[in-house]
Amino acid sequence: SGRWARAMAILREFEEKCATPIGKLRQVADAMAVEMHAGLASEGGSKLKMLISYVDNLPTGDEHGLFYALDLGGTNFRVLRVQLGGKEGRVVHQESTEVSIPQKLMVSTSDELFDFIATELAKFVATEGDDFRLSAGRQRELGFTFSFPVKQSSINSGTLLNWTKGFSIDDAIGEDVVAELTKAMKRKDLDMRVAALVNDTIGTLAGGRYFNEDVVAAVILGTGTNAAYVERAHAIPKWHGLLPKSGEMVINMEWGNFRSSHLPVTEYDHALDVESLNVGEQIFEKIISGMYLGDIVRRVLCKMAEEAALFGDIVPPKLKVPFILRTPEMSTMHNDASPDLRVVGSKLKDILGISNTSLKTRKVVVELCDIVATRGARLSAAGILGILKKSGRDTVKEGAEKQRSVVAVDGGLFEHYTEFNKCVRSTLRELLGEEVADTVFIELANDGSGIGATLLAASHSQYL
Ligand code: ADP
Ligand code: MG
Repeated sequence: SGRWARAMAILREFEEKCATPIGKLRQVADAMAVEMHAGLASEGGSKLKMLISYVDNLPTGDEHGLFYALDLGGTNFRVLRVQLGGKEGRVVHQESTEVSIPQKLMVSTSDELFDFIATELAKFVATEGDDFRLSAGRQRELGFTFSFPVKQSSINSGTLLNWTKGFSIDDAIGEDVVAELTKAMKRKDLDMRVAALVNDTIGTLAGGRYFNEDVVAAVILGTGTNAAYVERAHAIPKWHGLLPKSGEMVINMEWGNFRSSHLPVTEYDHALDVESLNVGEQIFEKIISGMYLGDIVRRVLCKMAEEAALFGDIVPPKLKVPFILRTPEMSTMHNDASPDLRVVGSKLKDILGISNTSLKTRKVVVELCDIVATRGARLSAAGILGILKKSGRDTVKEGAEKQRSVVAVDGGLFEHYTEFNKCVRSTLRELLGEEVADTVFIELANDGSGIGATLLAASHSQYL
């Protein structure tokens, strides 16, 4: 029928606009490397902030003592304590707990957010058992993983530049987030010192390096997306401080804010951006990360319902609700292997209130999920290639002993979305070619960032 043909036309047009042929991915990778240079050259030189982390030494294995970490960066925040035992003992004990952040706190005031965090942290500290030993007379120390763009002024201070991922708390912007946390801890009578302020990418890189010496970069594919890598200090023209002894500096790219004319951006992405809390920002993140993928699928379905009556004469009202279709549900539908796509059918009913869908309609839904996930995964791989290029790790060097490059990847999107994960890996292989691909490894760093933050707190302890 005409309606079906119209629906197919919308689907095919979307598919075309989302296409990521290998040539386009190479252009994206090249653009990423160019922007990395520009962001390192001068402050504000690029959409990529290329933030200096003040981490010039990654963990060695010698770290020891009791350290806490707090991870704030998405829908949940985690608190963690670790007893580190040096090269012998490694991670002797660890305990953690996760608390979801009430939606209203994400758009409240700085004091309200940090009071909530300090309260939860204090509760966790109160449960510290005998497995954990703080040396006599010492203050507890914390690594604070704060996964938003921060301009650091030292390893344990830095001002918030802007929020991402649905947070919007105006009075926190421009404030030192360590000072804000420290004040809240005082208000809650919690005696703890923030020894290190790190982004989750930096934490993942540090945690990754602790377990594998070949880790050179970290990528987050979760609610948002970002990356960090180890740069040569003298290749950072905007750094005017002393050159670190190690000759290296870890850079937090803030790659979520990458944009390029080579990115395949559709009308749906444009509409999502315009209706977001951070219009015009985080364009790469908005086509790649877990916060947004489900909503892109919803938007295309909505168009098909409105213009091609895909779900009958009435547009299902729930289809118009932003973010009602979340990425985990999208991945469950995408993964449906039953012959009649039973899971897709029940998800459409439960989430969107659409019952009695035909098999061919369900197939359209799966195809949409595939288009959106594939674009995001392939662009993620192109971003990784950009980092490898900038680091001179996208080729095999003749004569030199074989260099191995490990990229530590963390985040629920990469961990749980099987098709996405497989596609990142296969696309990177395709981009690198077999010979180089055999020297590059993507490693799931399952919550490496929490351990990483404790390691960095340990190596920046006031008692060293
Ligand atoms: P955060 O990025 O908020 O720190 P995580 O790394 O745990 O936290 O990632 C959580 C995000 O991962 C969710 O917001 C969601 O977008 C995505 N995610 C979680 N589970 C799945 C899943 N099964 N399939 C696809 N995406 C998922
Ligand atoms: Mg996280």
